[in-house]
Amino acid sequence: MTEAEETKFYQNLGRQIRAGTKPPELNRPIVCRECGPVWSMQPAAILSDSCFWCGNRFAGRPIPRPPISPEMQKILQEIGSFNRKEPVKKSAGFVGSKFL
Ligand SMILES: [Zn+2]
Repeated sequence: MTEAEETKFYQNLGRQIRAGTKPPELNRPIVCRECGPVWSMQPAAILSDSCFWCGNRFAGRPIPRPPISPEMQKILQEIGSFNRKEPVKKSAGFVGSKFL
């Protein structure tokens, strides 16, 4: 991909994400610590600190949800809550399985 093609690719991706539409390129279901289950791009790690949809969460825009695999379910139980409106402060830690 040339730089111009890459710019166009990400602009197009961004447009779809802002519209709350799942771009076909995002076909990897993952768990974002902030957003919960979301679509990401291969080969993303199954648990991520942030994702393509964090901007939608901040802005209150829709986030299309992937099916939750048993592996994702386990992670969701481990991390406790998500769906946060505010970013997690880096100084925040865990108490048990819940975010502070
Ligand atoms: Zn996110």
